[in-house]
Amino acid sequence: MFENLTERLNKVFAGLTRRGKLSAEDVDVAMREVRIALLEADVHYSVVKSFVANVKERAVGVEVSEALNPGQQVIKIVHEELIKTLGPSERLNLTGEKPRVVMFVGLQGSGKTTQTAKVAKFLRGQGERILLVAADPYRPAAVKQLQTLGQRIDVEVFYQEGIAPPELCKRAFVYAQKGGFSVMMIDTAGRSQLDQALMDELGAIQKIVHPVEILLVVDSMIGQEALHVAEGFRDTVKITGLILSKMDGDSRGGAAISIRSVTGVPIKFLGTGEGIDALESYDPSRLSSRILGMGDIIGLIERAEAAFDEKKSMQQAGKMLSGHFSLEDFADQLKQVRKMGPMRQILEMLPGNLGKVAKQVDPNEAEKSLKMTEAILSSMTAKERLNPDLLNASRKRRIASGSGTEVQDVNKLLKQYRDAQKMMKTLQKTGGRGLSNLFR
Ligand code: GDP
Repeated sequence: MFENLTERLNKVFAGLTRRGKLSAEDVDVAMREVRIALLEADVHYSVVKSFVANVKERAVGVEVSEALNPGQQVIKIVHEELIKTLGPSERLNLTGEKPRVVMFVGLQGSGKTTQTAKVAKFLRGQGERILLVAADPYRPAAVKQLQTLGQRIDVEVFYQEGIAPPELCKRAFVYAQKGGFSVMMIDTAGRSQLDQALMDELGAIQKIVHPVEILLVVDSMIGQEALHVAEGFRDTVKITGLILSKMDGDSRGGAAISIRSVTGVPIKFLGTGEGIDALESYDPSRLSSRILGMGDIIGLIERAEAAFDEKKSMQQAGKMLSGHFSLEDFADQLKQVRKMGPMRQILEMLPGNLGKVAKQVDPNEAEKSLKMTEAILSSMTAKERLNPDLLNASRKRRIASGSGTEVQDVNKLLKQYRDAQKMMKTLQKTGGRGLSNLFR
C-alpha cells in the first residue's frame, strides 16, 4: 500500500533526522519534497497546497520537544495534518425504522458487489438481520455473483427476473418488512462510465426506498479519477459514505488522501483484498500511519487483541519476561501469531526500526521458517517441549525425520530458544531499556 509515497516521505524525514535543529529553511526544503511526493502520488493539487501550507505554518518556529528529534517533530505534525485531511471517521447510520436501507453504488469493476457482501458479513456479525438485493438485472453474472457470495456468508439474496430495479427494490422492501429483516442492502447496477440512464435509475431507487446510507464504492487504484466519479454520483444521489476498494494494491494514495477534502463525503470502509473478510473500518490515524510508513501498530494491536487469549498471553508474558518460558509456551505463541493473519501482513504492519528490519525479510521465507518451526515443535512430546534438555541426539534425529527437517534445523531452533531466554533475562535486569529503541 502506498509504497512509493511512503518511501519518498521517509527519505525526506531521514534527511531531517540528521540535522541538529529545525530551521525555517529545513522545513522549506522538506516541504518542497513532500509536495512533489504528494503530487506524484496523484493527490489533488488544492489538497497538496493547503496541506503543505498548514504543515509549514505549524512546523516553523515550533518548540522542538525534548522527546523528539527535529525529523520526528515534523513527522508528528505531518501525521496530525494528514489525519485532518483524511477526515474523521463516521459510523454507519443505521437508525430509524426497520428495515433500514443501505444502497451500494459505483462503477463496474470498482468492487461494488464484493464490498456489498463484505459489509453484509460485517453487519451480520453485529447482530443485524440482512437481506441482500440483487438490483443489476442487466448483467446476469452480477446477480449470480451476489447469490454465490450470499450463500457463502449465509445471507438471503432477493432477486426477481425481468423486473426493473426501482420496482424490484420496492418489492424487496415489502419482503424485508414482512420477513423482519433489520437491514436491506441493495447492490445496484454498475456501468463502465458515468451515464445518465444509470443515474436516473439510482435516483428512482433512492426516491422509492429512502436509504439511510448510500455508499459509493471507488477503486483506490484509479487515483484522482476517483474524485470525478464521486462528484458524478453525488450530483444525482445523496452519497453518505465512501468505500475505497483495492487498498491492498499498489494504490498511489491520491484518491485516499484527497477524496474527503474534495468531495466532503466521509470514508467509511477500506477494502483490502478479494476475500470476504478483507474489509476495515476506516480510521484516519491508522491510515495516516500507514501512509507515513510508521507501521500500523494500531492495526497490529487490534488483531493481536482479537487473536489472543488474554489470560493465556498475560501468563505467557509473565513467563517470558522472567526467562522461564518453555518450548510449550513458544508453540502456543506461534499458534496465536498464526491467528493474526499471513506473515506478509504482519510484517507490513510493524513500525519503525522493526518495520525496516521486516522489510528485509522475505515473507515467503518467513512463512516457510514458521511452518518448519511448527513442524519441529509438534514432532516433540509435550514433556520435551517443557524440558528441552531431555532431547538427546537420537531424539533429535527422530524429530527431524518426523517433521521433514534436518537435525541442524532442530538444533537451530533450540539455540534460538535459548538465546531468547537469555535475552529476556538480560532485559529483565536492565528494566527493558533498549527495547523502546526498536520502535523509534
Ligand atoms: P463490481 O463490478 O463493482 O461489482 O466489482 P466486483 O465486486 O465484481 O469486483 C471486481 C474485481 O475486483 C473482482 O475481481 C474482485 O475480486 C476484485 N476486488 C474487489 N474488491 C477488492 C479489494 O478490496 N482488493 C482487491 N485486490 N480486489 C478486489
